[in-house]
Amino acid sequence: MRSGAVRHILAKFRLLPRKELARPEERRVVRGRTRRQLLALVVLIVMASLSGQPLAMAPAKAKLFPDPDQIPYQIPLRWCALKGTKAVTDPGFFGAPNTTSVLLGRQLRASNQIWTPRAKITFRSPFPADVPPSAATFPVIDDPRPPAAGLGSTLESEQGTGPGQHGDILLPDSPVAAAEFEEARAECEEEWDHMAQPPPAGLGISMKGPIALNFGRFVDASGNPTSVGGLGLPPTSHTITGAIDPNFPPWCETPPDRVTAVEGAFMGVVDFSAVGDIVRDAQVVGHELGHVLELGHGDGVDNDGDIKYDGFCDRGPPAMGGEDGLNGGGGGTNPPPTIMHPSGISNDVTALQRGTSRGIAKVTPGSQIDPPIELVNADTLSDRRVDDAHDVKAASVDMTAVGMTINAEREQVILSHTLFGLVSKDESTEYAAFLDLDSDPTTGGRPAELGFPTRFKGAELVTRVRVQGSKIRSIHPGQLGEGRTATPTAWRFEGGAFSDVRKSGVTASVSSPVGEELPFPTFDVVSAELPADVVGHVGSQVRLQAITAGKGKDWVDVLPGEKPSRVVPAGSAVLFMTPLRFPACTTIPEVVQQPGDVVTLKAAGFHPGEAVHVILGDEPIVTEELNGAGNMSTDVAIPEETRGVHPITIQVEDSALTADCVLQIRGGEGGTASSSAAVSATAGPTVTATALSTSGGPPLVGPGTLVASLTVMAASVGALVVLLRRGVS
Ligand SMILES: [Zn+2]
Repeated sequence: MRSGAVRHILAKFRLLPRKELARPEERRVVRGRTRRQLLALVVLIVMASLSGQPLAMAPAKAKLFPDPDQIPYQIPLRWCALKGTKAVTDPGFFGAPNTTSVLLGRQLRASNQIWTPRAKITFRSPFPADVPPSAATFPVIDDPRPPAAGLGSTLESEQGTGPGQHGDILLPDSPVAAAEFEEARAECEEEWDHMAQPPPAGLGISMKGPIALNFGRFVDASGNPTSVGGLGLPPTSHTITGAIDPNFPPWCETPPDRVTAVEGAFMGVVDFSAVGDIVRDAQVVGHELGHVLELGHGDGVDNDGDIKYDGFCDRGPPAMGGEDGLNGGGGGTNPPPTIMHPSGISNDVTALQRGTSRGIAKVTPGSQIDPPIELVNADTLSDRRVDDAHDVKAASVDMTAVGMTINAEREQVILSHTLFGLVSKDESTEYAAFLDLDSDPTTGGRPAELGFPTRFKGAELVTRVRVQGSKIRSIHPGQLGEGRTATPTAWRFEGGAFSDVRKSGVTASVSSPVGEELPFPTFDVVSAELPADVVGHVGSQVRLQAITAGKGKDWVDVLPGEKPSRVVPAGSAVLFMTPLRFPACTTIPEVVQQPGDVVTLKAAGFHPGEAVHVILGDEPIVTEELNGAGNMSTDVAIPEETRGVHPITIQVEDSALTADCVLQIRGGEGGTASSSAAVSATAGPTVTATALSTSGGPPLVGPGTLVASLTVMAASVGALVVLLRRGVS
C-alpha cells in the first residue's frame, strides 16, 4: 500500500455513505451478552474438568473451527525498550507519537508481512480491555550495564558499566557475556510483573505473553556494533509425562502435539533505526518470533526424510545424520530461503514450520483464538510472578519467576521455578511452592506441618522438587536435563491433613532452554507436572509463596520478598488464573472478494469515547471515534492493490490498547508486502531509501522524517546496513 493510495481511500471513504449505526449497535449488545455467556461457560468447563469431570474444551473449539488448520491465533507480546535507544529518545524519528507506537509498529509489520498471512498467527498487544488507555504503554527500562550514568539509566554497583552506547547490549556469545542480555530480559519481565500489583503500585491486572526487548545494538567487548540483528530463545516446553527421547524430543515432532505448555520465551531485536527499512525490520522481528515459536534455523524442509527438520532438532552435518548444523550448514542455507534462514532474508514459512509454530502458538501464554468479534482462550491458562534477580548470591537458587500453567484439555497442571543460573556439578538444591488454590487463607493447611520453615497458611497444594546437579557437557536440541535428576514430591490438603500424592502420576524435570542464537545453557527451569485431578479445583486467583534451598537446606530465596531470616513470613503473591479479555473486532464480510470492495468493520470492548486508528496491514487508513458503549462500526473500502491476508488493528490513540482481527482479500496469497520484500531483501541502501519513500503514513511509520533520516544513515553507515542484511542472528 502506498501513501498516495491511502489518501485516495480516505477521500473515497468520506464519499461513502455511512451506514446507520443504531440497528447493528442493538444487535451487538445482545451478541456481546451471548459471547460473555459463552466465555463464562468455557470457564465453567475448565473448572469442571479440573474438578475431575471428563469435560474438555475441544468440542466448543471444534464447533467454531471445523478445520483446526484455520484457527487464527493471537499471541500477546510484552515489549520493553531500553533507555538510550532511538525508539525512546526520538520516536518522532520514526514518525511515531511515542515509544509504544514504534514498538507496536514493529510487531504489526512482522504479523502483516509474515505470520498472519503464512501461519494465521497474529502478534498483538498484551493489554486487556480493562486497562485504561493511558496506562496501556510499553515499559522503558534501564540499560542494565550502561557505558556511564546518564539518559536515565543508573549504574548498579554489582553489574557495573557495559560497552557501547546507552541502550547497547554486549553480544551474548559466551555464558559470561550473556549476563547483560539476561539482566535486560529479567528487568523487562519485572516491569510487567509490577503492573500486576494492586493499585496504586500497579494496575492489578496480570499481562501475559512472551517478552520482547528493543535494544540499541549488540556490541563486542570494545563497544563496536556487531552485525547481529536480534536474538530469539525457544521457550521451555512442558510435555505429557513419559520418557523423552533426547534425539527426538516432543518439541521436535511436527506438529508438536505432545507439548502441553511452553513458558519463558523471549527475544530481543536491535532498534529499528539500526535495521534499515520496514520490510527488513519485519523479517528481523519475524525471524526472532520464529524462534519464540520453537523454530530452528533452516529451509523448513525435511531434507533427509527422517521426520526431523532444521536447527537443533536435526543437527549436525549430513555425515552425522543431521541436515542443518549449528549455524545453518547443510539444509540451513538451502534455497529458497525461509524466514528461518540464518539471515532471515525471506518471508516464507514452509508447511513443517507452520505445523511447529501453530502447535506452539496454541500453548503459548496468553494465546487466544479469534472467532468473529470475540476472543476465546487457547489451550493453556497460566500466570507467573517475578522475583528480583541477584537477590541471593547462588544463581542456582536465585528464583527469577514462579509460574502455574493449566492445560485443561490435556488435564495437566505445571508448577515451575525459573532460576537465574544453572544447577551444576556437586549441587543439590530444592524448590518448593505453597499454593492457596481458592485464595482463602482460612481453608487449607500450614506447610510448616510438613517441615517447611514458613508461616504461610491456607495451602491446598504443596510441591517440592529436589535437583541433583551434574556437569553440563553437551548441547542438546532445545532443552534437556543434561544428566541432572529432578525428584518431585506433592502434598494435597484433604480432610484436615496433608497427604502425599507423589504416586498419582506427579513428575518433575529440570531443563535449560537452548537455542541456536544462544547455543549454551544459561538458566534452568525446574518444574513439577501434576495430573489435573490431583490438583483439584483452581480458583480465579491463587495465592502463592515459593522458596528455594541450597546446600545444608538453608532456604535462601523467597517469592515474594527478600532473603528471609530463619522463618519465612506469611507473605504471598497472587497468580491470576483467568483468561485475558481483549477488545475484539471483525469485518463483514470476513472475506473480501476483490480489492475496492467495501467492508463493515466492527470493534467492541473498548472504553467509550476514545479516538481510534484503523490500521489495515501496517498502514493506518482512517481515524474513528468510539461510541458511548466503547464500540465502533465503520465502512472501509479496501485499497486497490491490497491482496491476501492482513491483520486489522484498531488502536486507541497514543496507546497500546488494541482490537485485532484478520481480513482476507481474494485475488492473491501473500499480500502486497511480500512482493516488495523480495525486491528489498537483495537491495542496497539506496533502494532501501526508495522503498521507504513509497510507504509510510502516521502514526506507526513516519513519512518524510524517516525517509530523510534513513537516507542519510544509509549513506553514512551503508556498510553497516549491508552487514545487518547478512546476519539476523
Ligand atoms: Zn535465528
